[in-house]
Amino acid sequence: MEKIPFSPPRIDQEIVDEVTAALRSGWITTGPRTKALEAEVEAMTGVTKAFCVNSCTAGMELMLRWFGVGPGDEVIVPAYTYCATANVVMHCGAKPVMVDVRPEDATIDPQAVAAAITPHTKAIMPVDLGGMPAVYDELWEVVETHKNLFQATTPEQEQLGRPLMLTDAAHSLGAIYQGKSSAQQADATVFSFHAVKNVTTAEGGAICLNLPSSFDVLALYRTLNTQSLHGQSKDALAKFGKNSWEYDVHSAGFKCNMPDVLAAIGLVEIKRYTNDTLPKRIQLFEDYQQFLKPMDWAQRPFAKDEHRQSSAHLYLLRIKDFDLEFRNAMIQRIFDQGVSVNVHYKPLPLLSFYKNLGYHMGDFPVACDWWQRVITLPIFYDLQKSQVERVAAAVKKAYHQQKTSFHTLPLHRKS
Ligand SMILES: *Cc1c(COP(=O)(O)O)cnc(C)c1O
Repeated sequence: MEKIPFSPPRIDQEIVDEVTAALRSGWITTGPRTKALEAEVEAMTGVTKAFCVNSCTAGMELMLRWFGVGPGDEVIVPAYTYCATANVVMHCGAKPVMVDVRPEDATIDPQAVAAAITPHTKAIMPVDLGGMPAVYDELWEVVETHKNLFQATTPEQEQLGRPLMLTDAAHSLGAIYQGKSSAQQADATVFSFHAVKNVTTAEGGAICLNLPSSFDVLALYRTLNTQSLHGQSKDALAKFGKNSWEYDVHSAGFKCNMPDVLAAIGLVEIKRYTNDTLPKRIQLFEDYQQFLKPMDWAQRPFAKDEHRQSSAHLYLLRIKDFDLEFRNAMIQRIFDQGVSVNVHYKPLPLLSFYKNLGYHMGDFPVACDWWQRVITLPIFYDLQKSQVERVAAAVKKAYHQQKTSFHTLPLHRKS
């Protein structure tokens, strides 16, 4: 039987042609195509300025560093996310303060954030998990009511007067919250263009700036440009001009600019995203809803509620009344039927590095429950409705096989 992969990229002739054009253009690193991609991201999200980098991870770190986050500082992150969210805080020498997530959608729990804010809190990093925006109204209320605790130690912190809201939006390009884009909810929002994400450049990301109007966003854009290129006063394109070889370096900056060869992929991807890729993904999500609805043991996610529309990045199915051992065995049974599934996520406190730093899974019961019962089903552009039906059937069969093994071998179940 033909295997169903988890999320292969959509690489067709149009992408091959645009990459070839970039390769033949004489300009392969950061240049006109990267700038064009930034303009597309701005047009799509409604933010004044977007800056492309070579990963979402690098983008989040650039923003934390710009805000002066460093040793002695704390950054609040959900325990239920990809390691990048906390790793960038570690890179800055600060402490990731993990909090639990909401039972409904596994986004960061505003009440847990409220309980975790201290005078050391310099940033809060919501994650739009699976493409569903976090509950920003409640998060902003928490930030406002705890503003008096904030202790500014840099000019940027002084100017903002509260912790930076920096979203890990690796999943949520195209998602909507209260009628606005997911990039218009926080001070800065960072998308990922990694190979498995809704829009890809193979590797890449974009920082969307949405700071209060007292900030000079164009100046910040120039700072990010400089910081993404060794702190060099002129980028390659500027140096390319006649007799403009000389430059200076004002800080030991990073090296995380996006090359035009990769931006070429993103340009094709993003132009067909809103009217083609995104509706297709949302439809596939709804197809799963339909096929899984009759199964009372299937706790289905949702792509939409009163205020939010997800970008349908992940279909996060939970199995009712299952534990880790049963979920893992069920995943094996799904793979045995030629269907690739995944788990998003193994919570941060279970990863050796964070466990060894003293984070305890027991402190995050909701994240723990999600982790033990979740199975992520495939969604990608070329997936057919008939394949969605096959995935649902494979999940159903795996469930019943697992249940039956439970009845015949009850002692195998841990109490
Ligand atoms: C993919 C992902 C990232 C990292 O994105 P990169 O572009 O690979 O740096 C960060 N956070 C989450 C939740 C992700 O899924």
